[in-house]
Amino acid sequence: MATETAVYETRLLIDGQFVPAASGETFPTYNPATNEVIAEVAQAGREDVERAVAAARRAFDEGPWPRMTPLERAKRMRKVADILRERLEEIARLETLNCGKIIIESRGDVAASANCFEYYANLTGHVWGETIPMNGPLFDYTLREPIGVCGQIIPWNFPLLMAAWKLAPALATGNTIVLKPASATPLTALLLGQICLEAGIPEGVVNILTGPGAEVGAAIAEHPQVDKIAFTGETETGREILRLAAGTIKKVSLELGGKSPNIVFPDADLEEAVNGSLFAIFTNAGQRCTARTRLFLHESIHDQFLADFIAKAGKIRVGDPLEETTQMGPVISTRQCERVLSFVERARSEGAHLALGGKRPDDETLRTGNFVEPTIFTNVQNDMTIAQQEVFGPVLSVIRFRDDAEVVQLANNTIYGLAATIWTRDLKRAHRLAAQIRAGNVSINYPTVNPPEAPFGGFKQSGIGRELSRHALDLYTQVKNVVVNLADEPFDWYGKWPVGQK
Ligand code: NAD
Repeated sequence: MATETAVYETRLLIDGQFVPAASGETFPTYNPATNEVIAEVAQAGREDVERAVAAARRAFDEGPWPRMTPLERAKRMRKVADILRERLEEIARLETLNCGKIIIESRGDVAASANCFEYYANLTGHVWGETIPMNGPLFDYTLREPIGVCGQIIPWNFPLLMAAWKLAPALATGNTIVLKPASATPLTALLLGQICLEAGIPEGVVNILTGPGAEVGAAIAEHPQVDKIAFTGETETGREILRLAAGTIKKVSLELGGKSPNIVFPDADLEEAVNGSLFAIFTNAGQRCTARTRLFLHESIHDQFLADFIAKAGKIRVGDPLEETTQMGPVISTRQCERVLSFVERARSEGAHLALGGKRPDDETLRTGNFVEPTIFTNVQNDMTIAQQEVFGPVLSVIRFRDDAEVVQLANNTIYGLAATIWTRDLKRAHRLAAQIRAGNVSINYPTVNPPEAPFGGFKQSGIGRELSRHALDLYTQVKNVVVNLADEPFDWYGKWPVGQK
């Protein structure tokens, strides 16, 4: 397995220029399939945060972007989408190289990122207020205005797509941005910054800082000149972001973790449910916030379903993610690999039955990378650690249920509420359960897909706010009320008391 070398940007993007960190420091970024270093990337510090926030502030307070017509903003955003599509293969390879997802998934992510920019380009002219009937000779209307400088902090599981989900709605509504990619996956976000410049998005509008979350992310989250913080990552980090943002009462939106249920009823198309459920857990090596990590099987089909499911999961080809025939790549880092395997040990010690995987593959050629086999635990109880904590790896918990009421109770019994899937041919049951499950995204007879048209986000500790769709426009705008006096008679509050009256 070879690490490709290519020329890509590894410096910080501040005020339209790619620059080294003020300290001159760099950090290595790796290929998770081999653990070879693929680049040394600029390591931002507090001084760089100051420079980037100042640039974004200037671009917002004085620059053309917030003042540009919606059509002009849309043209540039469409250009970003065009460039992403033109360079799809090259960008997909860089994504796979840096985050380890299989090349076909990376191609999908680049295409989805282009769609996201195009979708929001189409919405730039659709950000409008209301006229409100008033009791009196007043004309009242609202304006939707950009929030200002937005700090955006993203994780490593969809490095380009998460950047697109964050940047596109913020740009469409006229904000300026300081984006921080995850330390493990800085490369495609920097490339997207380069593409934004090439597409004519003015300097200072998109700034990108690579560096450690606890220093750079925290400095952005607490900065008094940053008006809003949008974060995607672990729930624990989300709590810290809330604390950091509290000092300046920032607008905050959070997309956090999940422990999403996948429920199969006996009346489902079982073959489709098997195939969909494989996709729902094992794509991106299980490193999806929406991964359906708890598979609830009705007791009457439990054994039959599992036999087919485990047989198919056992055939998933784990290997070099750049190979067209590979079906699952490595997890992001050696640390994450060890974390996943420690969850496996914990599940065994708590009494779950390891039905598949649970280890690194035997294949010698995969020894240097962070590979973990597709792993399935059966006989899981919903209160076990493996069913409650987010593993973020290719590990599935299978739980048996008896009836609708029980499965709703079990599905909801978690601190998370990000997503859920229901497999059934019974229309009434499907809609009834969709309403009863406390999650932001429910799919019926469909695994897990998030197109830009549909809102995305979590109930409970899975987050605050909805990304994608028209709802994301609300995350990046604030409402201003304007009232106009239409009365002919002059306004004179104090003059209306008779002279001499106290
Ligand atoms: P993480 O929380 O460790 O890191 C996310 C980002 O926050 C990174 O850029 C990191 O550098 C930064 N960060 C870390 N500590 C920080 C701090 N103290 N202050 C400010 N920023 C800080 O998450 P991760 O491991 O990169 O990603 C995996 C997690 O992301 C999982 O929990 C997953 O469920 C979640 N996720 C959620 C969604 C969603 O939309 N709900 C999508 C993808 C991933």
